Amino acid sequence: MDDQALTPARHLVLVLGDQLDAKSRAFDGFDPAVDVVWMAEVAEEAEHVWTTKPHIAIFLSAMRHFREDLRARGIRLRYRCLDDPQNRGGFGAELCGAVDELRPRKLIVVQPGEWRVQQILLDAAGSRGVELEIRPDDHFLCSRQQFAEHVAGHKRLVMGTFYRAMRRGTGVLMDGKKPVGGKWNYDAENRKSFGKKGPGRVPAPRAFAPDAVTREVLALVDERFTDHPGGLAHFDWPVTPQQATEALEDFVRNRLEEFGPYEDAMWTGQPTLYHSRLSAALNLKLLDPRRAIGVAEEAYRQGRAPLNSVEGFVRQILGWREYVRGVYWHTMPGYAERNELGADLPLPGFYWTGETDMHCLRACIQQTLDTGFAHHIQRLMVTGLFALLLGVDPAEVHRWYLAVYVDAVEWVELPNTLGMSQFADGGVMATKPYCASGNYIRRMSNYCDACRYDPARRLGEDACPFTTLYWDFLMRHEERFGGNPRMALQLRNLGRLDEDERWAIGRRAAQVRRRVAGS
Ligand SMILES: Cc1cc2nc3c(=O)[nH]c(=O)nc-3n(C[C@H](O)[C@H](O)[C@H](O)COP(=O)(O)OP(=O)(O)OC[C@H]3O[C@@H](n4cnc5c(N)ncnc54)[C@H](O)[C@@H]3O)c2cc1C
Ligand code: SF4
Repeated sequence: MDDQALTPARHLVLVLGDQLDAKSRAFDGFDPAVDVVWMAEVAEEAEHVWTTKPHIAIFLSAMRHFREDLRARGIRLRYRCLDDPQNRGGFGAELCGAVDELRPRKLIVVQPGEWRVQQILLDAAGSRGVELEIRPDDHFLCSRQQFAEHVAGHKRLVMGTFYRAMRRGTGVLMDGKKPVGGKWNYDAENRKSFGKKGPGRVPAPRAFAPDAVTREVLALVDERFTDHPGGLAHFDWPVTPQQATEALEDFVRNRLEEFGPYEDAMWTGQPTLYHSRLSAALNLKLLDPRRAIGVAEEAYRQGRAPLNSVEGFVRQILGWREYVRGVYWHTMPGYAERNELGADLPLPGFYWTGETDMHCLRACIQQTLDTGFAHHIQRLMVTGLFALLLGVDPAEVHRWYLAVYVDAVEWVELPNTLGMSQFADGGVMATKPYCASGNYIRRMSNYCDACRYDPARRLGEDACPFTTLYWDFLMRHEERFGGNPRMALQLRNLGRLDEDERWAIGRRAAQVRRRVAGS
């Protein structure tokens, strides 16, 4: 902890691990002569879910780099390190301790990224009788107030409608009142797979070798969280604003062009393909989303990237990212409890080791544990899909996703997991469940080529567990989805199965569940 004369402090400005933006509203009116910044590394944040080493390391490294930056600018700082013997282990206790010592008149914080953390801060402030001012988070392009107005003005929440409103409101990719190119969405051009030949040479994303600060963190995480899953040998994430900008420029220069067409494709040994790998930098607030959107739009306007790729990338950030944040704050805390499909199985143990004979799951989980990253389709249509078809309790699925990815912060992770991937919110995030058989994975990847199962078979010893469970999922929820026009085709196909085949699928699905439960 910095022990420069910190008392008396007028305001204690709280900076959380995912708020590493020196231009945030927390610093409005900051007076270095009388105000102090408070930051704390606490074990509770790595333990309330069994967080992987890459996830812990990226937060601590980015926090320590931010601390160095504040120090260099002469800002007074109370920074509690994880390995400080005085560390009280949780935000609440740490904050109470700081308030007792520094006796600030007011605490200031930008709205946290997690409802749970906001409650901890409110409770700590309440217990010490000190005012806590929660300021809006200007990192996002849509304020909570704007989102609430959007909800009030529409019968149903639909991402596409929200996205169009965001495009109109910001002028991004607009020609006057019309979308650039005449269409709002180029998804029809963005569903390519690589075919037998594979992707060929894909430009590797910019890697950042750990500097002294990061190396210290990696050693600390390895020692302190020895029994946590995940490895640190591949840690190469951007941990400063400068590095985040370099990562963005590298993406736009080398991968944006093919981002759109191959957005949904997967390939063994290619964890990133044409994705940006910018989510952690964005969520830690090392990178301004306006900048990411602006640089991509400029590449299109200058003829360096095609519209289908640029629009696809912009939609992820201006559309999905803003939308899930709106949904999270609009529906919490009740949202986290939802379980519309009544799923109640435990998460299979192999999610924490990758040890399974299903090749797609083995590849995606091992990559996740090694690097803290998997791209969207790996999350949605491999790990998420299997949990959905199996019938895993969505709260368990949520805890896994929150623990394993370097970009995981609850405001973005929860709606994606509980809503989009598990359909546990009954259709707030998605109009139908993302359910598919192993044939989808075969079409979009080469995982099945090296697998002992056959994605085309739903019955028999070689039947792909995804395919068996897909038909079982449709059978189990046939009535529920009967009225959903977007499920009509899938349910029509189910209707072609006779009673014997249905019975055999149910029996085979029960075997798969028994085997998975023992894994
Ligand atoms: C089950 C599940 C859990 C997820 N958990 C997280 C999470 O904890 N944190 C997280 O940032 N994203 C999460 N996502 C969304 C998405 O998978 C990641 O943002 C993306 O894979 C990150 O890789 P990238 O930076 O290469 O993204 P790209 O494919 O290059 O997309 C560009 C950017 O768009 C944003 N974006 C893309 N898709 C989404 C989305 N569905 N929701 C919100 N933002 C999006 C991200 O900021 C991303 O960096 C989750 C998705 C699923 C299906
Ligand atoms: S056959 Fe099934 S389990 Fe094997 S890789 Fe393909 S989808 Fe996955």
